[in-house]
Amino acid sequence: MAEKLDSATRDALQARVRFYRDLGLTEFYRRPVDPTVLAQLAVQPEEPQELRAPCFPLVSAERVGNHESTGAPGLASETWDQSTQSADSQEGSPIPPRNHKSAPLTIATAIPASERAAALQIIRDEIGDCTRCALHSGRNKLVFGDGNPAARLMFVGEGPGADEDAQGLPFVGKAGQLLNNMISAMGLRREDVYIANVVKCRPPGNRVPEQEEGATCSPFLFRQIDVVRPQVLVALGATAATWLLGSRQPLAGLRGRVHAVWGTQLIVTYHPAYLLRDPRQKKEAWADLQIAMRELRLKSPAKI
Ligand code: URA
Repeated sequence: MAEKLDSATRDALQARVRFYRDLGLTEFYRRPVDPTVLAQLAVQPEEPQELRAPCFPLVSAERVGNHESTGAPGLASETWDQSTQSADSQEGSPIPPRNHKSAPLTIATAIPASERAAALQIIRDEIGDCTRCALHSGRNKLVFGDGNPAARLMFVGEGPGADEDAQGLPFVGKAGQLLNNMISAMGLRREDVYIANVVKCRPPGNRVPEQEEGATCSPFLFRQIDVVRPQVLVALGATAATWLLGSRQPLAGLRGRVHAVWGTQLIVTYHPAYLLRDPRQKKEAWADLQIAMRELRLKSPAKI
């Protein structure tokens, strides 16, 4: 098969096999491959506006979500702090397309829950003291991710802000406090979920990560998703949605439904920083989280 693949696809497959071996997965077998799947794996020409879903299987199935709300929770109403939040997390902001040349294959076999922490550590070690993109130069601490390595629910944000950069942990500033409240409203604890970002180093002034930065860093996020294997992924804001879906669309059109990507169910909602700026949208965010709760078979807390 290898000689029929172009060099970029072959390199990507070889890297993936090395990754499997690092994880102790050494048994491989070949099964007939559908030519359309091979075509999907091949490097695609850049399409600046309409990009295809980034992962294998490349499923675009969507289900309309349940918008019935059981009552919006009283999520903490933090004041908006322009200096610590991304100015571009809201709907309609320009978002760079993802470079789907770097789209990985999904690991065929789930890593046992007990080995996921070690598998994540392998990814962290591989990132090392990263200088792969320009963001490293302004970094204090790299923010890898945090939480339960076998979480059923994973949140993906945009990139670290000032507090995260200082502490090396995702969502620990004001937006993080609101995210914690959202998680509690779902009847979960922060340590039950896994949290990561599209980029692992803080963009200057909390700007949206540039295309090159996202393309360089997001493969590590995708590998984290492959290891954690959440049942539900929640994209917080347009940047996370764009990189996870490989599709640059207005947030409004992505919310309220379940997107089938990454072998999991993706739900798109507002970034907590946006909710801090426009608390009226918390009700909408709560409706999105209720879709996640329904998929996870979580009981809605009675009244919050
Ligand atoms: N905003 C993000 O997108 N991620 C963080 O970790 C913090 C703020």
